[in-house]
Amino acid sequence: MGDGDTCDDVGSDRLETVKDHLLQKSKGKCPMCNEEKWYIDDDIYAAMGVTEKGVRLGGRHLPMMATVCRNCGFVAWFSAVAVGVLAPEEEEGEGGKP
Ligand SMILES: [Zn+2]
Repeated sequence: MGDGDTCDDVGSDRLETVKDHLLQKSKGKCPMCNEEKWYIDDDIYAAMGVTEKGVRLGGRHLPMMATVCRNCGFVAWFSAVAVGVLAPEEEEGEGGKP
């Protein structure tokens, strides 16, 4: 990584998986500005569960892939499981136990 010409295999697989999913399931246009200039981030992010006391560290989380509109900056989040980047059983991570 860091070299512009070499592709991280895992990352590019993820990008292809997300791209394929979006091509099949979405209309492709940004809901804010109507452009079709998307950047797909190849990292997986997590939305964590929250209680009245704050973030539940080690609790359940939702793994997500981000696509960013290059025109207006709108960020669209997709479930990493639903788009096929993660298998459903990988979703739990190490935080599944009480
Ligand atoms: Zn936009």
